[in-house]
Formats: sequence, structure tokens, C-alpha cells
Amino acid sequence: MFGDWHDPIPAVIEATPKESLVRNDIYDCWPRREWNRGSIVLVGDAIHPMTPDLGQGACQAIVDGTTLASCLLGGDDVPLALHAYRRSRYLNAAIAMLFSRIWGGAGQLEGRVTCAIRDSLVKAMPLSLQLRQLDLVIQKQSNWVNSATV
Ligand SMILES: Cc1cc2nc3c(=O)[nH]c(=O)nc-3n(C[C@H](O)[C@H](O)[C@H](O)COP(=O)(O)OP(=O)(O)OC[C@H]3O[C@@H](n4cnc5c(N)ncnc54)[C@H](O)[C@@H]3O)c2cc1C
Repeated sequence: MFGDWHDPIPAVIEATPKESLVRNDIYDCWPRREWNRGSIVLVGDAIHPMTPDLGQGACQAIVDGTTLASCLLGGDDVPLALHAYRRSRYLNAAIAMLFSRIWGGAGQLEGRVTCAIRDSLVKAMPLSLQLRQLDLVIQKQSNWVNSATV
């Protein structure tokens, strides 16, 4: 697959011992409605695992952490803070998971005609639509926290 890539990629692959290759299956999952039980609360892949196709899993986990901290700093009512945390993160995490799945699927399509159609559609996608998608995935944290803490 990489034989005609530029140097040193074929050489690096050639020099890699077979035993050092790792193969892991990848799973995603729509985030559950319940993010906490009592004061036990989930962040990151534990609640919204996504495929790596948008490079968002760890980013979303970090936003979970900072949002959770902001919500907890907002007052002494822990159940309310955990509710605000889930409310502020659910949609963003679900969208990131869904778009990762869609783009991952699109990237793995096979067949010359299918791939040509896919490539044409992607090229024809207006920049405004691409940016709108990005906006939905890379949500400004302050908006989510502000809209959720009351
Ligand atoms: C190939 C690939 C490429 C990726 N690329 C990107 C990228 O470019 N950008 C990006 O943002 N994300 C990327 N991700 C996703 C990212 O790696 C994950 O979303 C992120 O690591 C999730 O962090 P987490 O802390 O939620 O979970 P994890 O990183 O899985 O951490 C959970 C930890 O808990 C430990 N653990 C599990 N059970 C127990 C237990 N019972 N007791 C104690 N410890 C336990 C595990 O060993 C692990 O260390 C990629 C993922 C893959 C597979």
C-alpha cells in the first residue's frame, strides 16, 4: 500500500519487524444518557468513545475535565453541578462521535467509482458547511458551560 510513497516511508515500513506491529479493533458508542451515578462521574472514552478519524477523542476528554471542574466550582450543589456537566457536554460529544463515525466510514470506502463520487462530493462541499461542521465539533467551551450552569 505504501510502496510508492516518498522516502523514507517504504524503508521505515520495510525495517519494522512484524512482531512489533499492533492491531487493535476500534469501537465507538453513542454517549449514554446517564453520565453519573451518585458522585461517581464519567469523562472521556468511558462515556463517549469515538473513532480516531477526527482526532477528537482526547480533545473531548480534556474538555470534559475542564467543564466538570468549572461546573463543580460554580457552587456547593454537587448533583446540580454533575447535571450541568452532562447537559453541557452531551451534544458536543455526541456530534463529535457521530461525525468521526461518518468521516471514518467515508474514508474507508472502496471501489474506484465510489471513491471518485466521495472525493467529488467532499471537494464540492462549500467552505461554510465545512466550517459549520468544525464549529459543532470544536465547540467553544465557555458557551457550553454558560448555557448549562443554571
Ligand atoms: C489510533 C488512535 C489515534 C487517536 N488519535 C487521536 C488524536 O489525534 N487526537 C485525539 O484527541 N484523540 C485521539 N485518539 C483518541 C484518544 O486516544 C482517546 O480518546 C483518549 O485517550 C481517551 O482518554 P481517556 O482518558 O478517556 O481514556 P484512556 O486514555 O483509555 O485512559 C483510561 C486509562 O484507565 C486505565 N484503566 C482502565 N481500567 C482501569 C482500572 N480498572 N483501574 C485502573 N486503571 C484503569 C487504562 O489503562 C488507561 O490508562 C486516538 C485513538 C486511537 C486509538
